Amino acid sequence: MPQKTPIAIAYGDGIGPEIMEATLHILKAAGAQVEPHVIEIGEKLYLKGFPTGMDPQMWDTIRRCKAFLKGPITTPQGGGYKSLNVTIRTTLGLYANIRPCVSYFPFVATKHPEMDVVIVRENEEDLYTGVEYQQTPDVCCSLKTISRQGSEKIVRYAFEYARQNHRKKVTCFTKDNIMKLSDGLFHKVYEAVAAEYPDILHEHWIVDIGAARLADTPEIFDVIVLPNLYGDILSDVAAQITGSVGLAGSANIGDHGAMFEAIHGSAPTIAGKNVANPSGLLLAAVQMLVHVGQPDIAAKIQNAWLKTLEDGVHTQDIYKNTSKKLVGTQEFGQEVVQRLGKTPETLKPVTYAAPTKHATPALTYTTPKRQLLGIDVFLYHRGALNDFLAKISHINIGNLRLKLITNRGAKVWPDGQPETFCIEQWRCRYIVEEGRGCSQADAVQILHSFDRMNLEVIKSEMLYSVDGKTAFS
Ligand code: NAD
Repeated sequence: MPQKTPIAIAYGDGIGPEIMEATLHILKAAGAQVEPHVIEIGEKLYLKGFPTGMDPQMWDTIRRCKAFLKGPITTPQGGGYKSLNVTIRTTLGLYANIRPCVSYFPFVATKHPEMDVVIVRENEEDLYTGVEYQQTPDVCCSLKTISRQGSEKIVRYAFEYARQNHRKKVTCFTKDNIMKLSDGLFHKVYEAVAAEYPDILHEHWIVDIGAARLADTPEIFDVIVLPNLYGDILSDVAAQITGSVGLAGSANIGDHGAMFEAIHGSAPTIAGKNVANPSGLLLAAVQMLVHVGQPDIAAKIQNAWLKTLEDGVHTQDIYKNTSKKLVGTQEFGQEVVQRLGKTPETLKPVTYAAPTKHATPALTYTTPKRQLLGIDVFLYHRGALNDFLAKISHINIGNLRLKLITNRGAKVWPDGQPETFCIEQWRCRYIVEEGRGCSQADAVQILHSFDRMNLEVIKSEMLYSVDGKTAFS
């Protein structure tokens, strides 16, 4: 008898307990060698006073287990609650979010019968680091962080995934025509990693037109790798256009753990009615079985599930006039169990190989030459530019001189235009003449000068050149 793999299980909120019950019933009947360790997380814990929706003692159970199968969570209304998902992803370093989005036409109605796309979303960086500030009464800012290391991990994961799953192409979406540095770095790393996988096609799209094509002609895509925010939005779009968001599962993979869940939420309005579709969580559990080294059981379950769909046995969300039998959540689970060992006849049966080995970084990083060139000082000022310009244009520290003032990125000095709409956040750039450098002490002195003039500094950024190129916008 093979040793059972310990897995942490959270039933979650809303429809979570029902869909988890149906899923575990199928796993047991299929002979999955797993040993569930149930933990409680979610709404009840939030309301008991745990701001992350989880008792910190639960980490021990999650760490001891090889994987975590999680039901959807309800985040209570009101402030002060942190996203449990973000906490789990960042704490366990689950950097890769894998969301296969497949059409099951003609058994599930969709406008995209040939769709078979896997979204590989970066899971830790971008705007999701949650670093946000209310800088002034009327201005808020979020920090978008993209690192070379984070980009390489996810891009390499996408190419390894493509190779192991016999996929032909990895497409990258970014907005590097606008965010030349942050999205530009992601794109650059993508090109460097792609060069190491000559057997896999690669292409890059600007995210807006890429998203439009994904919604319109998803069959032209295969694997798509993208930064966190675009991935979050577009994976929901991709799941929805397959026919139902209730059909997609997702894996969150890291070097020290993995979490598996349905894409959808806790659907409170249908909770407790035995009508929810358990398929999203079941397909997440299939991904989990592949991950923990039980690919044959995973394929057996998914093929029985495909056969169930094909036989027209449908839950309410996908039931239509050509369906044969309307079933509830638990009955759907029993129908899948009855078909274990069968394969679909029209839909493509699945096979899975041994688990995907985590891709390890392989690009060489050289330490570039950096030089400090100046400082951007962000000022909170209600009123006209001229009210403070005279004061700050005379500040001279070392080689630093005022070169530019912008408002929401638009140049307002020198040679501003009268039509530019200005808010209370001003960016004042002090920078050296070409060929010169400055010290950090000089840059800090600029901040002191603002302070002496009772001007309110809300943020500052050092300006560098990296390998001779300016490294700021
Ligand atoms: P939702 O996904 O719960 O529901 C959206 C719509 O899809 C609803 O009409 C719902 O009835 C339907 N639906 C969802 N899953 C279904 C299923 N399995 N079978 C049949 N129909 C299904 O999204 P929402 O209403 O925006 O969010 C509800 C709660 O879920 C919120 O508290 C939200 O914060 C939470 N949420 C949690 C997660 C998670 O835990 N990963 C993800 C998204 C939302």
